[in-house]
Amino acid sequence: MKINLLGSSGSIGTQTADVCRRHGIEIHSAAVKSNYKMLAEQAREFDIRRVCIYEEKYYKPLKEELSGSKTEILVGSDGLCELAADRAADLTVNSVVGMVGLKPTLAALENGMPLALANKETLVAGGDIVMKLAAEKGITILPIDSEHSAIFQCLMGVKGDISKQLKGIILTASGGPFYGKTASELENVTLEQALCHPNWSMGRKITVDSATLMNKGLELMEACHLFGVSPSQVEIVVHRQSVIHSAVVLSDNAVIAQLGVPDMKIPIQLALTYPERCPSLSGELSLTDYGTLTFDKPDLETFICLKAAIQAAEIGGTAGSIVNGANERAVELFLDGRIGFCDIGRGVSEALADIAVKPAASLEAVLSADAMAREFIDRKFC
Ligand code: MG
Repeated sequence: MKINLLGSSGSIGTQTADVCRRHGIEIHSAAVKSNYKMLAEQAREFDIRRVCIYEEKYYKPLKEELSGSKTEILVGSDGLCELAADRAADLTVNSVVGMVGLKPTLAALENGMPLALANKETLVAGGDIVMKLAAEKGITILPIDSEHSAIFQCLMGVKGDISKQLKGIILTASGGPFYGKTASELENVTLEQALCHPNWSMGRKITVDSATLMNKGLELMEACHLFGVSPSQVEIVVHRQSVIHSAVVLSDNAVIAQLGVPDMKIPIQLALTYPERCPSLSGELSLTDYGTLTFDKPDLETFICLKAAIQAAEIGGTAGSIVNGANERAVELFLDGRIGFCDIGRGVSEALADIAVKPAASLEAVLSADAMAREFIDRKFC
């Protein structure tokens, strides 16, 4: 087993490398945005044949780090796409953050490459074209997002036509660090508080998305694309313990859920060993240690990012691209300390209200909506 690992220095990327180490899975190629030192280390450890550095200014230092080795070095978006589509591996794991992941996803599918997807922005913005291409190429996308892996696992037990038997999805949300806070209390929260997630250890962008609950809105759109359901079939439930990773409701009203400790190595490993399961690096779940599991409705009046994302899911077309682009740019500004926490939700909601939605039938339409949304945020705040 060999993989192409895009985003190898990130939270999902390094945990994927852990799983590879554990099971002797080879990494044929790997790509990072800027962390050339880690990429060079991984290249040496895993004897990686091809690497890609997304930001061109790190090409030289990477070349120096790898001097004397036979590893081929590629650069930028074209390099990412080339690695994504490299059939010398058996599977491409796309765990880059943000819209940058869309082109490599399409390149992989275009070339008939099996794909494990941790990059949710890809589906939120480009889901219409991505799913159409996957169907044409006969490729089942293996989700690495914990909720979508859970739904996928629940559906592994359903025989026959899933579209006739899948009635709904229960998408669980931890509620993030600001659960229970009022809108006015949120006005003064700091970056440090937003980056402090109660259950999951993740990268900075997704951790902020979890604090605004935008992450759950993105995941709603992701679920609709992956499993062919409408937004009204998905119920978002706040479940503080993150033990139930999501559930499906079947046509006979049976509910099947997937449970486990909150550890991304379980969904990552399943994507790599699918359809088989193997001993894991993750701990066992003890339900009696938890004792109580709680369930609650999300507060859409306080967490307006989630409200906007649900609206975008219902509208369809490029609405997903608009809220995603606006959110990505606003979160960048928040991480840079240039805007407040609540500005993210205001920016996303206003972008959705302001920018005209079109069918998301082409890459150009998706990228143009994304660019308009980012410009909208820059005009508003910069
Ligand atoms: Mg998730």
